[in-house]
Amino acid sequence: MRKLLLILVAWPLLAATIYNGQTFIIPFDKTYKTFMTHTTVGNLLIIPIPYDAKPATRWLRIDGKAVRLVIKRKRYPKARLRVDPSKVHPPKLARKRIAAEYKEAKKIYTHVTPKSYITRPFALPLYSEITDTFGTARIFNGSLASYHSGTDFRARIGTPVRAVNDGKVVLAKKRYYAGGSVIIDHGRGIYSCYYHLSRFKVKPGEMIKRGEVIALSGKSGRVTGPHLHLSFKVRGITVDPLQFIEAFNRAFEHIQYNK
Ligand SMILES: [Zn+2]
Repeated sequence: MRKLLLILVAWPLLAATIYNGQTFIIPFDKTYKTFMTHTTVGNLLIIPIPYDAKPATRWLRIDGKAVRLVIKRKRYPKARLRVDPSKVHPPKLARKRIAAEYKEAKKIYTHVTPKSYITRPFALPLYSEITDTFGTARIFNGSLASYHSGTDFRARIGTPVRAVNDGKVVLAKKRYYAGGSVIIDHGRGIYSCYYHLSRFKVKPGEMIKRGEVIALSGKSGRVTGPHLHLSFKVRGITVDPLQFIEAFNRAFEHIQYNK
């Protein structure tokens, strides 16, 4: 009964709830208006909500109609992890490298390719057990605290890793924390990132299709064991990759590219 009431209240859609670290996606027919950080793919309005966003109510306009967007805090789990001490307190020599890699990544994520390379729904990079979800609060070796910026998939070293959608490879190199890393630009400020890889199958500048093998998984960088880490950036904001894929694929049937 409660569920039925909710459906009745939410139809026609004038109010929606979204959690920190998630992406709100809504189709529009002709116009939209929002003051929030956003992008569009065809006629889909895409709003990433930062992990550290506070509870709030925001108003958007979709085709002249007001939509109330309620941002809530999600209770993400906590985890204590043991990793190589050098990956928690990096030696002096590594700090320069880390800073340079951070700068390079920031430059990539803040760049918005005007064109969208996406012409179909997203797929997963590999199909296996998910060992850690997005957003887990992490305490490394009892000290450094951060949160898990993506989704971890169980993967033996050498497992083929596939592109989640069409796009352009913008980075394929070894990095301090992420280890072997590939970043794909899907256009419109949307990026997918694949970490801890053991071998690259693509080079920067290459155009790739969804499902193409871009690398082999590994255990490089700050890890507790071999796995694939997938993360997503939307207009520079880190979001839950699985929730993004689910929301995007659900909205995809409404997509029109002439908008
Ligand atoms: Zn991870």
